[in-house]
Amino acid sequence: MSKPPPAGPRPERRSGPPAGHKRPSHRPEKPAPDRTHPDIAPDGLPQVSLVRRGVERWQAGHPWIYRADLNGDPALQGGEVVRVVDGRGWFLGKAFYSKLSKISLRWLTYDDVPVDTDFFRQRLALADAMRQRALPGENTYRLVHGEADLLPGLVVDRYGDCLSVQFLIPGTEQRKQLLVDLLVELFKPRAIVNRSDVGVRALEGLTQEKGVLYGTLPGPVAYDEGLVRVRADLLEGQKTGSFLDQRENHVMASQYAFGEALDCFSYVGGFALQLATRAQKVTAVEISDAAAAQLRANAAANKLTNVDVVVANAFDYLRDTLDEGKRFDTIVLDPPSFAKNKDAIPGALRGYKEINLRAIQLLRPGGYLISASCTYHIDEQAFEDMLASAAADAKRRVQIVEKRGAGKDHPVLLNLRETRYLKCFVLRVL
Ligand code: SAH
Repeated sequence: MSKPPPAGPRPERRSGPPAGHKRPSHRPEKPAPDRTHPDIAPDGLPQVSLVRRGVERWQAGHPWIYRADLNGDPALQGGEVVRVVDGRGWFLGKAFYSKLSKISLRWLTYDDVPVDTDFFRQRLALADAMRQRALPGENTYRLVHGEADLLPGLVVDRYGDCLSVQFLIPGTEQRKQLLVDLLVELFKPRAIVNRSDVGVRALEGLTQEKGVLYGTLPGPVAYDEGLVRVRADLLEGQKTGSFLDQRENHVMASQYAFGEALDCFSYVGGFALQLATRAQKVTAVEISDAAAAQLRANAAANKLTNVDVVVANAFDYLRDTLDEGKRFDTIVLDPPSFAKNKDAIPGALRGYKEINLRAIQLLRPGGYLISASCTYHIDEQAFEDMLASAAADAKRRVQIVEKRGAGKDHPVLLNLRETRYLKCFVLRVL
């Protein structure tokens, strides 16, 4: 199931001119209609044409095309696979069409190949092959990371023999059954959970959905992270049940932990449990009662008796603890995203600065701060600048020990910076 595709020349024929090349003076063997291209291409697929700026964007490798870069408004419902052509009808590739989203087209292929069951089977197998290579022996990882795995609008997280899936656009929502059938065929899971209960679906005119799509879920699922066993609820937990993007960073955190540790925004304890394997005592601060209860259960199941779970707003906790004169040796900050759009960036940076400044002030000399941000509108440089400003305000000298991102199972697609969203710095306060 996880064999990489055969190497060598691709069997498919590229029917448009290669990106960036000057158009040849001779006509191609199948001349495209000039200007007055039909809305339905000969292969039966609807056809959507791009204005020049859209063509340039497509050829520069960006996998999304916005509405303003289409030639007119296609008479389509949304969810279709469409042929994408330039203003003269030259084939550029195939994409999922979205009617309501500002992102109208999501790239599927540059090649004139059928986008059928086999197409999706190959893409899923390709995604799994990378994980088998990058994370040998692992059974918990993000199996499909949307666009970055050439499967736009699809997320599949694997937790042992259970899968947790998100269908984020009409293109994948309408192919839900096909995709579930393929996941069953390829990975033989015990259960597939649908966690399409996410706000971004509203941008696509889709309602939130949650439930078991296949098999039966055996209650919370357990998986290993380093020395720790974590349980997460795929149906009722946050995201797809857990935050798999931080798995490698969780294990890394145990390496630095010592003394008195504080984990803010703990969820079910991804960082707190790791800190507890090394630190004397860990305080975990989490606002959600349900997450805090699961964290306590996880600590107990791992016989970690040095974890104190506090249900509180981490902003208040950091301020009050600083005022009380308390100090720590290791601190983790892993808050939820603070900015869903560009307008929210200044507020988000103020939020990050507030918690990072307090954390730096709370650390004893030689202490470590592991500080993460999953806000993709704030890139690594902006995050580093914010940290530098916090260190200056705290009048502390701070070293960068590591700059990390999401795990290898969350690949970044070049030309789509949105897939590079997670920053995780390891800092040492001198
Ligand atoms: N660190 C976790 C993931 C954190 S996700 C891990 O690695 O697994 C962010 C968490 O912060 C969520 O569990 C959410 O409930 C919690 N949260 C959100 N706002 C908060 C606040 N103001 N104070 C404390 N926790 C908060």
